[in-house]
Amino acid sequence: SLSDRITGSFKQLRGKGRLSESDIDVTIREIRRALLEADVALPVVREFTAAVREKAAESLKSQALNPAQQVIKIVNDELVEILGGDTRELHFASHPPTVIMLAGLQGAGKTTLAGKLGKWLRERDNKVLLVASDLQRPNAVNQLQIVGQQAGVDVWAPEPGNGVGDPVHVARSGVEHAKANHYSIVIVDTAGRLGIDEEMMEQARNIRDAVRPNETLFVLDAMIGQDAVQTSIAFRDGVGFTGVVLSKLDGDARGGAALSVRGVTGVPVMFASTGEKLDDFERFHADRMASRILDMGDILTLIEQAQKAYDEKEAEDLAEKMAEGSFTLNDFLAQLQQIRKMGSMKKMLGMMPGMGQFRDQLENFDEREVDRVEAIIRSMTPKERNEPKILDGSRRRRIAAGSGTTVQEVNSLMDRFEQAKKLMQHMSRGGGAPGMGSMPG
Ligand code: GDP
Ligand code: MG
Repeated sequence: SLSDRITGSFKQLRGKGRLSESDIDVTIREIRRALLEADVALPVVREFTAAVREKAAESLKSQALNPAQQVIKIVNDELVEILGGDTRELHFASHPPTVIMLAGLQGAGKTTLAGKLGKWLRERDNKVLLVASDLQRPNAVNQLQIVGQQAGVDVWAPEPGNGVGDPVHVARSGVEHAKANHYSIVIVDTAGRLGIDEEMMEQARNIRDAVRPNETLFVLDAMIGQDAVQTSIAFRDGVGFTGVVLSKLDGDARGGAALSVRGVTGVPVMFASTGEKLDDFERFHADRMASRILDMGDILTLIEQAQKAYDEKEAEDLAEKMAEGSFTLNDFLAQLQQIRKMGSMKKMLGMMPGMGQFRDQLENFDEREVDRVEAIIRSMTPKERNEPKILDGSRRRRIAAGSGTTVQEVNSLMDRFEQAKKLMQHMSRGGGAPGMGSMPG
């Protein structure tokens, strides 16, 4: 993969105190090959390696103490730069509704995105209308209606009067309806084809001219490889777009599409779609993508995943309980289940930077420990869970027997629980956020 190759080329450098010009050549060649294999477009690769070479040569002149580290930083910074730097915000119309049109090939993820973006904007206090202007496939309107329902937003579908069989008419009447009914956002879903096609482009242009969108988002399947370049150029020239959404970043996409589309069109990637569920959606962060490509571990995504798995309401309740010192084993159990939701713990830990040196501990990390903890708590009566101080020797023996563990294991869990509780009280007094302080293991 791209990250492995780049990391591999750095391995040779890491052993050395100083870099020579030929070291840099070797590295640049590796990076170039890696980028090409990751389906990054050739002109983008050229621009990228030229920039890295120039900056690396400068740092070579200064003969810094740790040149290899510097080259890594240069590559990282250059990746961030080419990926577009800071995330741009959506442009909202000064007179609502803000019209957002979606464009892209069939299967790129437009309809799914309509739901994701609709939900995301609704949660930010917008009144959102989705407009079904894909009349190409028989099921497309129905799919948008289902997605709208899941997102909790309204859908404007073709009907006599709204336009039947005419996507441009549906789009126009949808925006009229939104104006009359004080929607703040209109998201227009459009049809795509499997390949680039002049008829599709013309339809998209006609819709664009009818609704005059404030934003046109080009939805690009991150897994499409080298075709990303050609497709991006065709949509840029055929319809034009103001922002890019990369979809299917949850797959084993290697970042090539992200680099190419931005490098070739200059239009920033604004959002990332990372799964089939409506919540699998986030702002695109160039710096995180860069470190993902470099395989430095994506700590921020990790934290966000943890937060997402953690229901917000529950978190609030928990924070309150912590502050009051009334955090119980029941809450602890609920928290454990939240941790489980985040998926395999080993995988989670593996995502953290610098965890390589803890590989041995990782290997020994036993997920069954979580099972044991759960079994112990489940073997307690509700009263015991709420008032652990009543757990005397005979109760502990009963619980150990009931959970198939030992009294020592029960004791050890109770010790850790008390420690975690103290830590949490301490944290909430200090104003810290509820963390994973009680994670067992
Ligand atoms: P459209 O033809 O552009 O409207 O694409 P759809 O929204 O219908 O998506 C096509 C398929 O890709 C559907 O099966 C979606 O569930 C799936 N899909 C969309 N976005 C993502 C994503 O980010 N990750 C994954 N894994 N699947 C996605
Ligand atoms: Mg669709």
